Amino acid sequence: MKGKVYLVGAGPGDPELLTLKALRVLKTADAVLHDDLVAPEILKLIPTTAQVHNVGKRCGKKKILQEEINYLMVALADAGLRVVRLKSGDPLVFGRAGEEIESLRRSNIPFEIVPGVTSAMGAAAAAQIPLTHRHASSALVFLTAHQAQGSEAANWNKLAGSGATLVIYMPGQNYSEVAAKLRAAGLSGETPCAVVSRATTPQQQTHRSTISELHGSPKLAAPTLLVVGEVVRFADPVTLAYPFGASATAAADDSPLPATLFAAPDFGTSEEPLP
Ligand code: SAH
Repeated sequence: MKGKVYLVGAGPGDPELLTLKALRVLKTADAVLHDDLVAPEILKLIPTTAQVHNVGKRCGKKKILQEEINYLMVALADAGLRVVRLKSGDPLVFGRAGEEIESLRRSNIPFEIVPGVTSAMGAAAAAQIPLTHRHASSALVFLTAHQAQGSEAANWNKLAGSGATLVIYMPGQNYSEVAAKLRAAGLSGETPCAVVSRATTPQQQTHRSTISELHGSPKLAAPTLLVVGEVVRFADPVTLAYPFGASATAAADDSPLPATLFAAPDFGTSEEPLP
């Protein structure tokens, strides 16, 4: 009898961000194929009876082709095993899940997808950045600075022009290059941005700057994400004390906080009521 494959999101690092379902599936796995980025604390949850394969493809180290991963996954399930394909974050976000799903379908292997907390959410929480804000951004775009060879690069011009918050996965360490791309796409050099490294892990670090200052940012340890947009201002507790758009430098002196901070929030009348 055929086994089954679970494409499971391991979240951004903190084991407590695993879903209950991911944990249950992991604990009953016969075989686990995991990426490099899955946190060691999460790998410790795999039963000792399960066979574990690291199928990570980090640059420079051992290379494994996507086809080999697909083959292994299908072969193990064909042998009747419960296979967990464990990916960092969410399996459907920059995780090549599309290719794996295709090969499972071709081989008639039953499979299920267990979502995870994508690293953008982990990074936003870590850096206290509201990814949307009714006064600053009403759209959110996930994009990557790395593209498979030959595929068309994302049209950054369209994305940048939308005023959406951008979360850039795999930004690399060439900050000048990514900043130049953002400027070329039409974003102002004053646009705030934040590099978030190893979000939700004990090594988490955040560095906030602007697109024009980004080149001077410290090279934080991989994996990192780059969050770009006006919402990044809200990561600053000083900004929170002031109405959006007010100068943050005004907060640096000892003057009393503005009355608006204490005023009852104005929820307006044009918004739909909360569900
Ligand atoms: N499926 C994953 C993304 C895999 S691509 C997800 O949903 O998050 C790998 C990229 O994800 C990394 O290069 C980095 O940009 C980002 N990433 C993954 N974990 C991260 C973490 N803990 N902190 C910051 N970025 C992370």
